[in-house]
Amino acid sequence: MFSAVFRALPNCVAQRVTAAYFKAITFRSRGLHSVSTKEQIHSKMRVCVLPALQDNYMYLVIDEETQKAAIVDPVNPTAALEAVQEENVSLTTVLTTHHHWDHAGGNEELVKRYPGLEVYGGDDRIPALTKKVTHGNKFFVGKLEIEALFTPCHTSGHVCFLISSPGQPSAVFTGDTLFIGGCGRFFEGNPEQMYTALVEILGSLPDETKVFCGHEYTVANYKFAKHVEPHNQDLLEQDARAKMKRERQEPTVPSTIGVEKRTNPFMRVCESSVQDHAGHQDPIATMQFIRREKDNFKG
Ligand SMILES: [Zn+2]
Repeated sequence: MFSAVFRALPNCVAQRVTAAYFKAITFRSRGLHSVSTKEQIHSKMRVCVLPALQDNYMYLVIDEETQKAAIVDPVNPTAALEAVQEENVSLTTVLTTHHHWDHAGGNEELVKRYPGLEVYGGDDRIPALTKKVTHGNKFFVGKLEIEALFTPCHTSGHVCFLISSPGQPSAVFTGDTLFIGGCGRFFEGNPEQMYTALVEILGSLPDETKVFCGHEYTVANYKFAKHVEPHNQDLLEQDARAKMKRERQEPTVPSTIGVEKRTNPFMRVCESSVQDHAGHQDPIATMQFIRREKDNFKG
């Protein structure tokens, strides 16, 4: 509709419309790294992608049936509550992936301003924590089932949250464990743990599972991924796609587990191409090698 009207406009007007359009996008993003977007995962679940700080993402997860909602890593409580109001939903739950300030730093303020919230997480260092979870713990937001996946390594209490409803594709919120095209630094863990998290736990989810991660690092991650696997066609395609999105300030989330398995070197440590690059035939040694290499990678 927009493009049909647009094509009918004289050139000078079209230019002005284009300028206004980009101004509107910039205004919407309010100086943030990305515009906010909405993802309809299926008829019973939608996710609002909310940019925060320099490159973080918060997520508002809505159960369509009950209009109850959870917020993931609400570091900016004001923006989180604005989204709650805009979507006209009832917030019941905070899901905290790990205790780092840029994920958990908004919890206390949010609980003060929106009393009665349950705050879930896997680490006692998380502010305002009310429900500590371990691997496999399940609970509900409205009719959406949430399962905690314990994925220590970036921090020793890191948890990913898998959200599903029967017969529908799921979404997993991976914090700083799995990024699109990369993974978090091993601040409080080792390569074995990241292997367990990425290959055994997250890697066993269905390929169509949507992946929502904690930071917009995709383009930089793909730069390193291309260094590891310069001939990976899926990777080259995803890289081009991500760059196009970033030019428009659009988030690169969500990805899917299937895409990550085909493009993310840290999920591909069993592949001979990644092992050859690392000079190891063992997935754990390969994980250690590429993580160290990425830590010092200038591109
Ligand atoms: Zn972190």
